[in-house]
Amino acid sequence: MGTTWPTWLPRNSYPSRPLVAHLAAWWAAVRQDDRRRGELVRAEQQQGAAAGQVVGVEKHFVALAERLTERLPRQSEIDQKRLQLNPLLAAALPFVGHFQTRNKGTVCGSIAHADPASEIPLALALLDGEVVLRSRRGTRVLAAGDFQQGMLTTAREPDELITAVRFPIVQGGVAFREVARRHGDFAIVAVAALADGGNGIRLGVAGMAERPAVRRVPSEDALQDAIERLAWELEGYEDIHASARMRRDLLRRIGPVVAQEAVRCAA
Ligand SMILES: Cc1cc2nc3c(=O)[nH]c(=O)nc-3n(C[C@H](O)[C@H](O)[C@H](O)COP(=O)(O)OP(=O)(O)OC[C@H]3O[C@@H](n4cnc5c(N)ncnc54)[C@H](O)[C@@H]3O)c2cc1C
Repeated sequence: MGTTWPTWLPRNSYPSRPLVAHLAAWWAAVRQDDRRRGELVRAEQQQGAAAGQVVGVEKHFVALAERLTERLPRQSEIDQKRLQLNPLLAAALPFVGHFQTRNKGTVCGSIAHADPASEIPLALALLDGEVVLRSRRGTRVLAAGDFQQGMLTTAREPDELITAVRFPIVQGGVAFREVARRHGDFAIVAVAALADGGNGIRLGVAGMAERPAVRRVPSEDALQDAIERLAWELEGYEDIHASARMRRDLLRRIGPVVAQEAVRCAA
């Protein structure tokens, strides 16, 4: 291992020769460690992408694996192409915290945390996705609706790890909007819609109840009335960010806009 003069040590300083040798050796070892760690991460990333572990496309799903962060749109080109199969995620992810949060937070961590105002659990519930859980006892797969049971509460057993979250490949038009006091805050209310060509539109709402609520609403004349009924059914909760009344009002205002946007997107 060659020793080089440490850049942080001024050349005109005169510490003793053994001290300089010691510091230089230590610095070189640190740099070699960094290089090794970098190589390992790159190799893991290449292997992961090739084996479909990072973002895999299964028959009907885009599967996001355990260690994948919420910074999805900036992953490799191959991941971006796979994500195009799920435009709802691409629309919702920029609203998850700030870029620092998305760099560290993971998709599976967000699903495990089960915040009622979170964007990723909302997208999973709207699309009828699945959560893959693994423990020593084996692997089981739960539908999103069975997994998230209430406020920060899920069906995960203490010894289970979420190893993947499966988002169905979107067929149809999608739209997403949320209201927060500042960009990057948790949503006060978030609404996502899927116009899948079925009878009406699937509408998902977060921030109103203990977990994301998904209902089918009519696409035309009766839409506003259906959203009005949904607002009263979910009630909305009170916290320091908004009253239940304000939450109901937000749903009444953005619900129809998001539903109609999804219909236009499908056309
Ligand atoms: C400032 C800030 C702003 C944020 N804003 C938003 C926002 O607007 N919208 C939003 O949706 N989120 C937001 N978040 C949450 C954040 O984006 C992450 O989703 C969340 O913190 C989970 O992070 P994590 O993946 O590091 O999991 P951790 O914080 O490490 O874990 C969260 C919980 O899940 C468990 N867990 C984690 N991974 C797994 C796994 N694979 N299997 C089983 N259990 C697991 C942990 O044990 C823990 O109980 C924000 C966070 C911060 C700090």
